[in-house]
Amino acid sequence: MRESFCPKCGAPSEEGLCPRCMVDATEWLVCESRVTQVVCPSCGSVKQAGAWTDVEQDPADLSAALAMSAVHVHEDVTDLAIAIETREPSPNRTVAAVSVRGTLYGLSVEDTCRVEIAWKKEQCDRCSRYSGGYYEAVLQVRAADRKPDIYELEKAAGIAEASEAELQASGDRFAFVLKVDEHRDGLDIFVGSQHLADLVSRGIVQELGGKYSTHPKLVGERDGRKLYRVTYAIRLPCYQKGDVVLMGKRYCEIRDMEKNQMRIFDLKDGTMRTVREDCGNRPIGNVRDAANCLCAYIDGPVAGILDPETFSTREVAAYPWLHLAEGSYVRVLKDAERDRLVPVG
Ligand SMILES: [Zn+2]
Ligand SMILES: [Zn+2]
Repeated sequence: MRESFCPKCGAPSEEGLCPRCMVDATEWLVCESRVTQVVCPSCGSVKQAGAWTDVEQDPADLSAALAMSAVHVHEDVTDLAIAIETREPSPNRTVAAVSVRGTLYGLSVEDTCRVEIAWKKEQCDRCSRYSGGYYEAVLQVRAADRKPDIYELEKAAGIAEASEAELQASGDRFAFVLKVDEHRDGLDIFVGSQHLADLVSRGIVQELGGKYSTHPKLVGERDGRKLYRVTYAIRLPCYQKGDVVLMGKRYCEIRDMEKNQMRIFDLKDGTMRTVREDCGNRPIGNVRDAANCLCAYIDGPVAGILDPETFSTREVAAYPWLHLAEGSYVRVLKDAERDRLVPVG
């Protein structure tokens, strides 16, 4: 049996250099001393390969990931363990201490290095659009023959806010709401993308009824592409869902308005009907504002109900569909013009 020796140190070796000398001859850990990261000071987005993206990680994890990208370990190293500690000596600089352990040619190896991350502040594409007042669409929320009420205005603004969050979470960077202006006849919502405008318009009509139409207008050209700004004219119906109106001699609740028709719930006989749209009836209120009132007694076709304002007992017709009983509660609206209580179920 022939024994062989390491040509470098003379130690016994199976073939060529011994493991120790092979490790010594291998530059197994290489760290770039400095990486530069462009970041938006307003929203924290980062620029990677020329494109801006939102950052989901927290800042420490982002720093660690950037430091990792500067660390290059030889492919023969196994059982690799890398620990990174970061500190911020200044707002524009993060220093990462990297320690690396592993196994190379059967020997344990460990080493450390230091990576400096330079943060370069630059306003991102979205924030520069935003601060420049750029918008792609304006949603004009109006109502037919009336002004939208506070409930509708808040609902519309809330839908815009929720849709903005939904699209941005899905990576649509320009889905921002630039501003919401209260207009004499309703609300103007300025948004950064038509995608967002579509989503908000559909949401408002779905929630509040009515319809919308789009009106594009050419506003210029960029990189040979025509630029349009689109007005979304949203028209809420003359009545809201839940409005109670006096139709002839009957109070009816509007359940839905679509395509020139109204679905109404007759508060006298408790049935649903579809009728032609008719905006000429007097609304007395909306069922969401109804007060919960105690039924004090039943006397044949009549029920005594406690008036929520005066706490005196008022009589109303005890229509069978209301299922009134002594001691039960019923929701009631007041027709101020006729000084009457109207049970709505
Ligand atoms: Zn050797
Ligand atoms: Zn930004």
